[in-house]
Amino acid sequence: MTLKILLLLSILLLLITSWWLQRFSKKLAIGCVLVGLGTIGLGYTYRKTIYRYYAQNKADIRKRIGTPTCQINSKVLKFKRDDYTTKHRAQAHKLKDIKAVHTNAERDDYVEKGVLVPLKNTDGWIVKSMDYGSPFVHSKLYQKLEMIEQRFAEKQQEHNLSGIQFVISSAYRTIDDQERLRKVNHNATVDSSHSYGASVDISHLRGKDCEQATELFQETLNELQKEKQLWLCPESITMHVTLRE
Ligand SMILES: [Zn+2]
Repeated sequence: MTLKILLLLSILLLLITSWWLQRFSKKLAIGCVLVGLGTIGLGYTYRKTIYRYYAQNKADIRKRIGTPTCQINSKVLKFKRDDYTTKHRAQAHKLKDIKAVHTNAERDDYVEKGVLVPLKNTDGWIVKSMDYGSPFVHSKLYQKLEMIEQRFAEKQQEHNLSGIQFVISSAYRTIDDQERLRKVNHNATVDSSHSYGASVDISHLRGKDCEQATELFQETLNELQKEKQLWLCPESITMHVTLRE
């Protein structure tokens, strides 16, 4: 509703109320008109403050009833750390059908060939928007993500939980993306397994009762690590997961 319509409606309502009141007392009707006009005037003058207050409250309400999230990182979960250079990066170099490239145009050649596949939200996972990189993974990693999704869903079912998704915060990065990332994160490596589509970072679980599900997610990754399906590297704000073959 626009502000003008709201103003007109308020004045109309005020006039109707006053007309109804003047049948009982003219003074009361005049008083009502004065108080009403004063209130409308004040409301109009401070409209920006009122909007701001309303908008802030709306965000608070959304935060209170929004879907809960639980962190996934080295502080929350305990894993055997697979060495980055000899396991994660070595695995990426073993992929014969992909090389690290600089630009998104070069990346698109791999997408066209089906070596890299787009990563979209599913029932089991959510893909966050990415500042450093893009939502693609190597087709072999996609299969492993489906394994995690299925195993985690089974465990949820066994424990009468459902609908808890894992959040993928980072996936494919060109060499240029990686360079940009290194400017803000000095721990980021030059030759990353992300540049081969071989790794994703998982940052959260999302859904009601995600706290209870955190242990189940740990179990899921532990099992797949033992079954030699994945390499894991717990980091301070995410879990770095690489395909293993
Ligand atoms: Zn990573």
